[in-house]
Amino acid sequence: ELSKIGLVGLAVMGQNLALNIAEKGFSISVFNRSSSKTDDAVARAQGELEDPALFSGFKDMKEFVESIERPRSIIMLVKAGAPVDATIEALVPLLEEGDMIIDGGNEWFENTERRSEALSKKGIMYMGMGVSGGEEGARFGPSLMPGGPEEAWQSVAPILKKIAAQVDDGPCVFHIGPGGAGNYVKMIHNGIEYGDMQLIGEAYDVLRTIGGLTPDQLADVFTEWNKGDLKSFLIEITANIMAIKDDVAGDGSVLVEKVLDKTGAKGTGMWTMEEAVRRGVPSPTIASSLDARYLSSLKEERVAAEEILKGPTPAITSEQKALVEDVRQALYASKVCSYAQGMNLIKQTGVENNWDLNLGEIARIWKGGCIIRAQFLDRIKEAYGRNPELSSLLIDEQFAKELESAQEGWRRVVSLTVSEGITAPAFSASLSYYDSYRRGRLPSSQLVQSQRDYFGAHTYKRLDTDKVYHTRWSSDGVTEVIGS
Ligand code: NDP
Repeated sequence: ELSKIGLVGLAVMGQNLALNIAEKGFSISVFNRSSSKTDDAVARAQGELEDPALFSGFKDMKEFVESIERPRSIIMLVKAGAPVDATIEALVPLLEEGDMIIDGGNEWFENTERRSEALSKKGIMYMGMGVSGGEEGARFGPSLMPGGPEEAWQSVAPILKKIAAQVDDGPCVFHIGPGGAGNYVKMIHNGIEYGDMQLIGEAYDVLRTIGGLTPDQLADVFTEWNKGDLKSFLIEITANIMAIKDDVAGDGSVLVEKVLDKTGAKGTGMWTMEEAVRRGVPSPTIASSLDARYLSSLKEERVAAEEILKGPTPAITSEQKALVEDVRQALYASKVCSYAQGMNLIKQTGVENNWDLNLGEIARIWKGGCIIRAQFLDRIKEAYGRNPELSSLLIDEQFAKELESAQEGWRRVVSLTVSEGITAPAFSASLSYYDSYRRGRLPSSQLVQSQRDYFGAHTYKRLDTDKVYHTRWSSDGVTEVIGS
């Protein structure tokens, strides 16, 4: 009997997703370039599945392809970039018109569009599907962000809806849009993830360094926060991290204090920023999170600079309880700013590419399965429900109210980090984003535009008319109207 679906690429993600698919009752054929991983996957299926007969491993690609029901759907979970091209090249001669390939990797969206176009000439459908939630998500229910032709989505929707994480308002999957829209949304998801992690990291630093909280107290604070507006996977794991002791030294201290302060990155945060810059969408929270990782990697330089550069030595506050509440406010408000940036980047690209995106649904499918899953996403969904064309989440009535009530604490935290000389780049970048956005007139921009006209005759408009002017600032100061 033929399998419902096929999957190529049995590393961490592929193995777990394939097991998830079989567990939901869909027969699946699997293949991996090196056959040892196929053996591993089949062995896991024997041990983990109620009905291991639904799971068939193949070591020959032709036999693999022929074992799948037509029109075939084949999910690919190999390393992004050249390995995806190599896998497509190997698969395509074995496929027939009407078959479909779904790339579930973290692929650059334009690669998906290029492949999709090339394959459509052969009558093969192609989708780029973001998969979030790491190993656990893939195995027990990820958030899925499929992009590509509507027809392709329709044919795999029944499977994807079953294997995705399930939340109160449905499975964490929907058809994001055409082309590379699914990869794009996954990429921004990861950029937002950078922001969330950095913001929590800064909350930890302030509470520890200025608040003087002990690891036990920190664990309690994060546990408490996880019961309210900040309830999320990342806050939950942070609470757990605070409680884990160092078993290597075995000296009773907490492990997080022993971890080398150098943060790695695999590229999707960088892609998010490249996109933000390319499209001119201000994204300072995400940018500062990426910069924080780059700065962290300068460990040796920082250690040397510590001896040379002077600054205040942070003093521990006597108002610990008040600080905890202020930091909670700062974290929440900054998070709103960060999501406003990410959603606006998605929105802008969607408009430029005619993707016709549903931002509220995108927020909804992030509620479960993925790393940024959070209660808070319901509010974003509701905000776009109130107004799908919202220019910024910041001006949604609910968020605007929340930002208003959070801002005193938020400002106190940012001021404190500045005066005590500790770093909270994402808190302060978020606050300045908020303050810039809410100022109807920006004097610094008036001056910069004047400077541009002064030295480069770049022209300017005035506040009181719509005409275009140039002034001979450096000679007689006379202004001419250039156009309207
Ligand atoms: P890897 O990214 O480590 O990729 C390993 C797989 O790629 C193996 O099946 C490997 O085959 C195959 N491969 C590598 N080079 C080639 C090649 N030249 N030709 C054919 N196949 C090749 O696996 P992951 O499971 O970690 O990730 C898969 C995808 O999912 C990636 O795009 C990743 O970014 C994304 N992703 C990963 C997450 C994670 O938590 N790990 C989370 C979300 C997305 P072989 O065994 O023969 O070497």
